[in-house]
Parts: sequence; C-alpha cells; structure tokens
Amino acid sequence: MNNEELWQAVLAQVQLNISQANFATWFKNTDISSQKDSKVIVSVPNSFVKEWLENKYNKTILKVIHGLNEEIKEIEYAIGKTRLKILKRVPIVLPEIDQLEFQEFKVNKETNLNPRYTFDSFVVGPFNELPHAAAIAVSKKPGLVYNPLFIYGGVGLGKTHILQAIGNEVVKNFKKKKVEYVSSEKFTSGVVSAIRNHQMEAFKSKYKAIDILIIDDIQFLAGKEKTQEEFFHIFNVLYENNKQIIISSDRPPKAIHALAERLRSRFEGGMIADISAPDFETRMAILKTKAQEKKVDFPDEIYQYISSVIKKNIRELEGALNRLVIYQKLNNQKPDIEIAKTLFKNLLSSPIRIVTPRKIIQVVAEFYDLKEKDLLTSSRKKEIVKPRQIAMYLLREELKNSFPFIGRKFNGKDHTTAIHSYKKILREVEKDKKLEEEIHLIKEELFSG
Ligand code: ADP
Ligand code: MG
Repeated sequence: MNNEELWQAVLAQVQLNISQANFATWFKNTDISSQKDSKVIVSVPNSFVKEWLENKYNKTILKVIHGLNEEIKEIEYAIGKTRLKILKRVPIVLPEIDQLEFQEFKVNKETNLNPRYTFDSFVVGPFNELPHAAAIAVSKKPGLVYNPLFIYGGVGLGKTHILQAIGNEVVKNFKKKKVEYVSSEKFTSGVVSAIRNHQMEAFKSKYKAIDILIIDDIQFLAGKEKTQEEFFHIFNVLYENNKQIIISSDRPPKAIHALAERLRSRFEGGMIADISAPDFETRMAILKTKAQEKKVDFPDEIYQYISSVIKKNIRELEGALNRLVIYQKLNNQKPDIEIAKTLFKNLLSSPIRIVTPRKIIQVVAEFYDLKEKDLLTSSRKKEIVKPRQIAMYLLREELKNSFPFIGRKFNGKDHTTAIHSYKKILREVEKDKKLEEEIHLIKEELFSG
C-alpha cells in the first residue's frame, strides 16, 4: 500500500469507531505525508486538530495502522504540509466502501441539510410508520397540516434523518421556500452570541424569514431559559404565519425537565409522533437495503445474526454492515458467519444508558484521561481543576442537582465552590469554541446508547 491507500484504509476503520460528526470534524484534510521505518507522519490542517488527534485519537489510529502494517510503531502529527496536495486532491474517495458517508462533507451551507438524508433512503416499518406518514404529509403541505411536528425517539433511530428528509423534499418541491435545519446547540450558541454582540434583532429577523424551521434535539434547550424565551418568540411568529416548524427530541415534551410550560404546551398543540426500536424483520430489511445501496451482498445468516444482536440502534446496524464491507475489501473475500461474529464483538448494542452523577464523573474522567478519584480529590493541579469544574457543571446542567449535593459529591466541598465552578464553565463555554466542542463530545458520550 502506498501512503494514500494506507491512510484511506485507516480512515475507513476509524470511521466505524467514532460518530460521523467527529469523523468529519477531526479527520477532514488529514493525510500521511511520509513514512520512514517504523514512523508515519500524518499531516493535519491546524494545531487544534493536531492536539486533538494526539490526545484523543492517537491510540485508535495507531492500533488500526499497526493492524494494517505491523512495522509501524509510531505516529507523528505535523501541521499543514499537505495543503497543496489537498487542494489538488478530490475529496476523500472510498467509493466502494462508503460513498454515502462521505457526502457528510457536502452539507448545504444555507439550509444545513445533508443531501444523503432523503425519504428514498429511509426504510419504513411499524416502528416508524406514524412519524414517516406525518413527515410525508408535512413535506407536501408545509405549514398547513401538522404544525409543529414533534418527533421523538432514542439515539440512532432516524430522527435526524427524517427531519432532514422533510427539508430536502421541501427544497426540491418548493423552490422558493426557505428551509433551515439547526441543531439546538447551534441555536443556543446563536442566541448567546447575538446577546453578546447586541444583535438580537438581526438574529430574530433571520429566523422569522424562514418558511420551514427544523430544530433537532430540542432536549438540549432544557434549562436554558433565555434561549427558550427567544425560541418561543420565533416559534410564535412563524406559527402565526403558517410557517412549518419541525422538532425532534430524545423524549416526549412532557418528559423534558426544565422546559418552559408555554413551550411544552405549544409542542403538544401539534402532532407528536414517536419512533420506537425497529422489530427484527425491519432490522433485516434495513440491512438489506443498505447493502444494496452499497452494492454488496452477504449471506442471510449474517444479516440474521446482526439483527438478532443489534436491536436498538440503526446507526449501529449500519456500522456492522460497514465492518463487513471493509473486511471484504481488505481481504478480497466475503466474511463467513464465524468471522462476522468476531467482527461485531465490540459493536453489540449496549443497554440504554441512564445518566447518573457517577456516570458523568466517569465519562469526564475518561475523556480527560484522569482517574475518577482524581476528579474527586481537592487537587489544584490545572489538569484536574478544569475537568472537575466541567463535571460539576454537567451535574447541574444535565441532572439539575443542587449545589450542596454537588459540593458533597466532590469530597465534601462547600456549595459555593460548586456554584463558582458551574458559573465559570457556563461563562467560558460561550467564548471558548474548543471547550464547547469538548462538552459536546462528552455529552455525546453520555447520551449515546
Ligand atoms: P438519530 O438522529 O435519531 O440519533 P439518525 O437520524 O442520525 O438518528 O440515524 C442514524 C443512522 O441510521 C443514520 O445514518 C440514518 O441514515 C440511519 N437510519 C435511521 N433510520 C433509518 C431508516 N428508517 N432507514 C434507513 N436508514 C436509517
Ligand atoms: Mg440526531
């Protein structure tokens, strides 16, 4: 394998182990610039990515690369040497492996819609029939049928897909309508920066000009009162003008704590539809459809095996299929059932996670490569203080724990320490993009099934 082929193979595998968003964020414009003896130099676009790959992904990358070429024992990350090459190079191509995944990079800048999410590529079964029917109706008559349309369900069950499919369909059929997809986190940071820059009016008028507003993962607005207030205002204006609003969440409106009552009742005034986990037959159908899209084909026995072990998450079903495809590609032969079993060892669906204080501490510690007990000591070391503050912040933000409770959790600290930590992170996250990204990743880890 030359450098390029090697790196493509690495990316193909890394992709299976991390979320698409992280993959797109951290591995875009990376490359192997040289290889000498046991060392490989990976070039990266900037110092932010460099640091991140070194600290967070080095182990994974090394493991994968070592698996592909045993001689390689070390990786060095260097900034920028490939810029020229990247400009000349077509976007990463892995056509046989996963063309769909790579369209991630072609998100439309105006609408934020990803063209890969269409109704065409969406499998319908008993588990998602109702939200699907509602979505189709809304895409035919936006603003006129179910408004707002509120879709909820667990992680990886197709909420983002269905929301974006409505958007893409409307864009196709109603050229003049202005569609916008926004994650709740992006909306929140929009509110925060509008406040800071005194541009609230401009921010609001931008949203009020939209015909179809799609807002994903609204549960993240819980507890963010100012953002909710602005959203409520925009919501009302759009609603009164028969503009369509589409919302998703991981739970029904009444189960989102710290959501203003008036917002909740607004949501309940429209259509609420839930996506449950797909049944066995649908899981099989999804696997077969996706295999067809990828132009591959495996024995039924293998699909049955995957469908019997991965039950609650369509993203994981896709991940399993990708693993088979890559195996086939690298080994030039189809995996048999025994091989398939070993390929999925670490993909097996984990039970739905319940977020507890313990879990937050655990995930934060792991994220910053610390031990749980480090977070719980009184150490004033910089590497520990910050993660500890972040953990306190998350206990407050996600679980609404009281400050005295949070203080006690952390080695009997005073409640004022907890308040101070919470406020400090709250302030910093508004200004510091890197911190925002870190907290986003930690939350993803916390909530992913
Ligand atoms: P959520 O937003 O609920 O966490 P996503 O919409 O991101 O889930 O879906 C996870 C993955 O599964 C995506 O790649 C999506 O295309 C795929 N997917 C989900 N539901 C379906 C479906 N019904 N048919 C085909 N693919 C699906
Ligand atoms: Mg989603």
